[in-house]
Amino acid sequence: AKTEKRGTCKSFAASMDAAAQEKNRLEKDLRQAVRSGALEIYYQPLVNLESERIECFEALLRWHHPERGTISPEVFIPLAEELGLIDQIGRFVLTHACQEAMTWPDHVKVSVNVSPLQFRNGNLLSTVINALSSSGLPAGRLELEVTEAVLMEKGPRPAAILRNLRAFGIGISLDDFGTGYSSLSYLLNYPFTKIKIDKSFILNLHEDTTSRAVIRAVIGLGRSLGLTVAAEGVERELERDYLREEGCTQGQGYLYGRPQPSAEAALVANGYPME
Ligand code: C2E
Ligand code: CA
Ligand code: CA
Ligand code: CA
Repeated sequence: AKTEKRGTCKSFAASMDAAAQEKNRLEKDLRQAVRSGALEIYYQPLVNLESERIECFEALLRWHHPERGTISPEVFIPLAEELGLIDQIGRFVLTHACQEAMTWPDHVKVSVNVSPLQFRNGNLLSTVINALSSSGLPAGRLELEVTEAVLMEKGPRPAAILRNLRAFGIGISLDDFGTGYSSLSYLLNYPFTKIKIDKSFILNLHEDTTSRAVIRAVIGLGRSLGLTVAAEGVERELERDYLREEGCTQGQGYLYGRPQPSAEAALVANGYPME
């Protein structure tokens, strides 16, 4: 038993080593990717559930790795945050997304995800203003998506920065709503213009009465506060129909279109039919 245990420890240590090495490589590759432009922004439509018209595209990052193929942002965004690369990446996304939106019709907005860490260094406001002025995009066509993690940041700064951004006319969305510790006071103390219901509720809607109850409650809450309510993860007609009947404003999901490269998104935005 003793040798067995020792063997286990050794292979555990060895695999820790392998994991650490793997992470080192990934770190090196990510720094390189940021420099070499291996990050690409995909765009996914948000569609008005009543009119079926596209009202917005969400910018979603992709990392095309030379050996590993496309790496999900769920993997490399946390890494970028850890490595202190998130400000640089955030600036890249904001700049390019605003430029890209200029190729779409005037009524189509662009939304950009913002990491909680981007609120720490004090330059988010100027980054956003620069992205708008260098592209010429009106502030009213930009939305920023933040999660509740931003609201947990200590001190008054995130709230003050969000109010400043809002004062410029930029929309502020509360992303992944329902998954964290959202409370009414957050909604009232921050200048949100949109709530996005997390896709986990939509994916469970057909079989889970709790998910339906949450969806109905969030739509009711959003509407009574005068906010746009969007639902993520709309994959099926049944989900779309339910959300529309309950009065949800926008849907986003594979039913309407996957995240796609800028050239394809531009065609769709300009009225070419979606597949
Ligand atoms: P998110 O902001 O909640 O984005 C929604 C995710 O749902 C996206 O995953 C999208 O591709 C996926 N999705 C869209 N429609 C459907 C559907 O019908 N069914 C299902 N199952 N999934 C759907 P993605 O693109 O892998 O992004 C994952 C997360 O990475 C994002 O979650 C966001 O938190 C983060 N992320 C992506 N791009 C950026 C970025 O530029 N900056 C920051 N800070 N985070 C980003
Ligand atoms: Ca988002
Ligand atoms: Ca989300
Ligand atoms: Ca999410």
